[in-house]
Amino acid sequence: MVIDVALGLPIDKIFKYYYPLDSQEIISGVRVRIPFRNTEEIGYVVSSTEGKMEGLKEIKEIIDVEPVIDKEMLELTRWMSERYFASWGECIEASLPSALRKGKISSSPRKEYFLKTDESFLKPVNLTVAQKQVLGIIDSKLPNGFNAFLLHGVTSSGKTEVYIRTIEDILTQGKSAIVLVPEIALTPQTISRFKARLRENVSVLHSKLTEAQKFQEWRKLKTGQNKVCIGTRSAIFAPLKNLGLIVIDEEHESSYKQNENPRYHAREVALKRAHQSGCGLILGSATPSLESYYKAERGEYTLLELPERVEKKKMPQVGIVDLKTVKRKRFTPLIFSPALKEELRSVIDRDMQAILFLNRRGFSTFISCANCGYVAQCAKCNLALTFHSKESVLICHYCNKREDKPLICPECDSRYLSFKGFGTQRVESELAKMFPAIRIGRLDSDVLKQRGRLEEIIEDFRARKIDVLVGTQIVAKGHDFPDVELVGVILADLSLNIVDFRSGERTFSLLTQVAGRSGRGTGKGRVIIQTYNPDHFTIKTSLNHDYKSFYLEEIKRRKQLGFPPFNELIKLEIRHKSEEKAKKVSDMIKEQLNEQGLDACDILGPAPHPVPKIRTLYRWTLLLKCENVEGIMRLLYNIIGFRKRIQGANIIVDVNPYED
Ligand code: ADP
Ligand code: ZN
Ligand code: ZN
Repeated sequence: MVIDVALGLPIDKIFKYYYPLDSQEIISGVRVRIPFRNTEEIGYVVSSTEGKMEGLKEIKEIIDVEPVIDKEMLELTRWMSERYFASWGECIEASLPSALRKGKISSSPRKEYFLKTDESFLKPVNLTVAQKQVLGIIDSKLPNGFNAFLLHGVTSSGKTEVYIRTIEDILTQGKSAIVLVPEIALTPQTISRFKARLRENVSVLHSKLTEAQKFQEWRKLKTGQNKVCIGTRSAIFAPLKNLGLIVIDEEHESSYKQNENPRYHAREVALKRAHQSGCGLILGSATPSLESYYKAERGEYTLLELPERVEKKKMPQVGIVDLKTVKRKRFTPLIFSPALKEELRSVIDRDMQAILFLNRRGFSTFISCANCGYVAQCAKCNLALTFHSKESVLICHYCNKREDKPLICPECDSRYLSFKGFGTQRVESELAKMFPAIRIGRLDSDVLKQRGRLEEIIEDFRARKIDVLVGTQIVAKGHDFPDVELVGVILADLSLNIVDFRSGERTFSLLTQVAGRSGRGTGKGRVIIQTYNPDHFTIKTSLNHDYKSFYLEEIKRRKQLGFPPFNELIKLEIRHKSEEKAKKVSDMIKEQLNEQGLDACDILGPAPHPVPKIRTLYRWTLLLKCENVEGIMRLLYNIIGFRKRIQGANIIVDVNPYED
């Protein structure tokens, strides 16, 4: 037998080995130990044929009796390797639990993972009219093979109930289901709710599980003992047979994109897998990604809507504070407007809770006027220009347009450009000065670094041991706190100004999600948004939770600029010790792409990365806008090769990237 073996290394090649025919039969999907160069490697058998063994080395050992990866997953990982510029073997490895990588034989965990279930979710609910309608449509279409749905429902509209009912149906038909959630630590309630309702059928793939525990859950899914898998992005590879449904909750979340090799997007992989196995796909969100809503509009997905909260609870009332009109002290940042202060006082007096939200991502990289909120933008790309302090210059990191840093604000003539921002700690200390008697909790990336601290703070807030919670986007996600009556957004503009074409979409979704935290119990929710851009359509539409109007405006912009969903993007990041070399290699790649006659592709850059240097390496980027990623990938292979190294430069290839 001639055996084709894929290796989990960055090599674009399937290697041939032989295995004596009369010994044990060898099947696709098993791991083998093989001689490779001067050492030994573990590989994955992708196919085998009868043929000549001349010149081939012999396989040393077959590790598995049963394949660890089935035909369907082999096909899926091969597709991934073509789309995401990774080798087939690397994609196979990414799809397996770490306990099986590199040929390890896993043993049983010392302690089985045990998930608490929340029995309070067992009491039956009467479906709302809207939920019934939605389930009726799913019911009528699901038996017909592949079907994708976009479930657009406002926060607290009963989407999760729709997922659970659909999965119950799937299970009675003897089929299985995958549920993807953005971040398990943030949604413990959702998980225990699924577990309570679906019972022993559920496996949870959780970052808190040990390697052995993860492997045990994987095996339960593979043997069919468990038929539902809930987990984060990599749960899309759950080894379930007879798949009936994939659910992606909060489908717009950027955590579904993997930012290391292979740089896949779980939504794209899910769509492919659903196609392959002819099953259903439900994407759910209060603020769908532009990509998904666009497909729903064109009829590729069935649009399902839940426009109201369950039990007639009202959406929170949103008020806006124009920071340009608020009197401020010189040289001190404006954190609490009088309006926000007053609302806070009222909530505290009534002994209710509040959340204060400040998104600080990308803050230090752009120049902003402390007086009027002006931010310098690239006219061509409509993105905030990035400030590079070394050369004291503003640069568009998509097209490399450069501008001198202005000395006075072009809008209002003030001199307070490039003011140093403030973070959640400053908000916390100012708050403590204003209201010395209240108990304050803070949630940001510093807290995330401490094990278990996040869960602890959320638990304390729920138990009313904390009155006001201050935090970054972590506080915006799916928590359900019934006594929160006020949400204050300290500065909504921050996420508008990150250097990413998705900044509008991200801002709309953050504002909507964070507003959705308010008034969940009593229905008396209030939201205050502080901003320098009250007329920006993103802010305006978020006031009325008006996704459709936001979408219509934003999709026009995307079309004009040729960004997704109208094109796909490939970002090349070129890293080198020498800045000059990084730039030179970038120019060279661009030249070669042009020589290959890339008419169907618009190349932006090279431009320095918004964070131009990490550790010892300088970073330059090229951005390719193209209709079809797979076609361009083949050309890229020719130029940069599979090792993604040219003249000492490392090249990272990222399809439809998400910036941080
Ligand atoms: P979403 O997923 O859209 O945020 P959920 O499904 O979590 O909404 O529903 C929000 C809350 O309403 C939950 O506490 C849930 O138990 C409850 N709920 C869902 N559907 C109903 C219903 N038909 N009747 C009463 N309560 C419901
Ligand atoms: Zn100004
Ligand atoms: Zn530009």
